[in-house]
Formats: sequence, C-alpha cells, structure tokens
Amino acid sequence: MARRPMMAANWKMNKTVREAQDYTAALIPRAADAEGVDVAVFAPFTCAGEVARMAEDSAVIPGVQNFFYEDSGAFTGEVSAPMLLDLGIQAVIVGHSERREIFGESDEMVARKAAKAVSSGLLPVVCVGETKEERDAGNMWEKVSGQVCRVVEELDDSVGGEDIVFAYEPIWAIGTGDTATPEDAQDAIGKIRGLLRELRGEEFAESVRILYGGSIKPENAAEIMAQEDIDGGLVGGASLDVGSFAELIKAAS
Ligand code: PEP
Repeated sequence: MARRPMMAANWKMNKTVREAQDYTAALIPRAADAEGVDVAVFAPFTCAGEVARMAEDSAVIPGVQNFFYEDSGAFTGEVSAPMLLDLGIQAVIVGHSERREIFGESDEMVARKAAKAVSSGLLPVVCVGETKEERDAGNMWEKVSGQVCRVVEELDDSVGGEDIVFAYEPIWAIGTGDTATPEDAQDAIGKIRGLLRELRGEEFAESVRILYGGSIKPENAAEIMAQEDIDGGLVGGASLDVGSFAELIKAAS
C-alpha cells in the first residue's frame, strides 16, 4: 500500500499574524506544485485561524501544536477540538517532546489527546522519542515502544492507520543540529511500524504514516526521506523560512 508522504512545518512559538500571512501566501503555490505530498503547517494558536482561512481550498493542511481533550469547561488557558474545528484547523501535533519535557505532559495525557483528536476528526501527529541518556543507556526502544503502546491502547478499534500519524523525534536531535543517521531513523521507525503491526494488524501498519523529526534540513532531507519506512518529516528550525521548507517538500516528493 503506497503511503502518501507528509512534510510538516512546526513553527513552535514563532511568527506574528503578519509573518504567518506572508509565509502562507508564499507556501500555497509551492504546496500546489508538490506532487503527491501532504504539506502541513502547525502554527501557534494566535495565527492558526488566519493560516486556516488563507489555506481554504488550497493544498496546505492547517494545524496547531497542541489542544486539550475536553470540549469546554474550566480549563484555563486551554483550547478544545470544537474550537479548532470552528477555525478550519485539520491537524494537531500531540505529545511533542517540548510539551512532555517542559510542560509535564504524561503518556496518559498524550494518549487521551491523540484519541480525542481522532474522534473529533482532527489528524493527530503523535510525537515519540528518547533522550540522549536513554539512548546511551540502551533504553531507546523501551521508551519509544511504551509511548506508542499507551497511545494505541486509547484508540477505538475502528480507528484506521490513515486516521493518525506518528513522528519519531529523538529528543537529542531536536533543535540541536544533531540529526539521527538515516539508518538509525529507519531502524527506529521500522520498529515502530512492526509494533503497530503486532498491535493493530497488517492493514493498519501499512497505512499509518510515520515521520522523522530532528534537525532535518535541505542538506540531509533526501537521504532520510529515501528510507523505506520513513513517510516524511516534522520540521522545526528549517521550516521557519518558506524557501527552505519548500526545498524539504521537494525532497519528500
Ligand atoms: C520539531 O520541532 O519537531 C523539530 C524536529 O525541530 P527541529 O527541526 O528544529 O529539530
């Protein structure tokens, strides 16, 4: 089964509304030219509505970087799935390592968010990955498999592989310039696909997209994207400039 590659920009806490407008205007024609690649932009809440408005009827998938799993209520500072759908948002990053490490999101919370995104009709991009210490201690797979299993446990039986995206993002490679080798990235992502096959069967495993994230840049993207199980990239730093992100889209197509 051919999986459609995805190249996703995670702007993190960057860009004003004006900057988001300029970027989106430049990205729309480039996304239209991208043969067979899903192009997603994960914007801060403050400009996500504007990105979604501009992206309507375009090939750009508008997304945000976080949300909460309740629909409404006393959750000060949070944003819900119905609020995002109301803006035209289609996708959401769940469990980014910065949310887990800086804001204390647990595996339990990440799993609930992933399941809620799917049941609301938002496409979750669920991030998993190990720290340098965990990798050096030989515990990479224990950490990553635990994170994946917790998410899958929470999903309804009816959820298909096309309803969710995973991103393997080794924490030591995020924003450090230190990319995993294409072989290490393939090894981890191949194992994740194997685990999903055990947990949810062949059809799910073959249709689910698994991205790599961690210091992807135009110079290393093609080699990473060429790996058998890698279906695209989640990109922070190198996505902030639309020209450099457009080069990464080309590498995925
Ligand atoms: C990310 O934010 O998910 C990420 C991979 O960042 P960077 O590309 O800057 O390492």
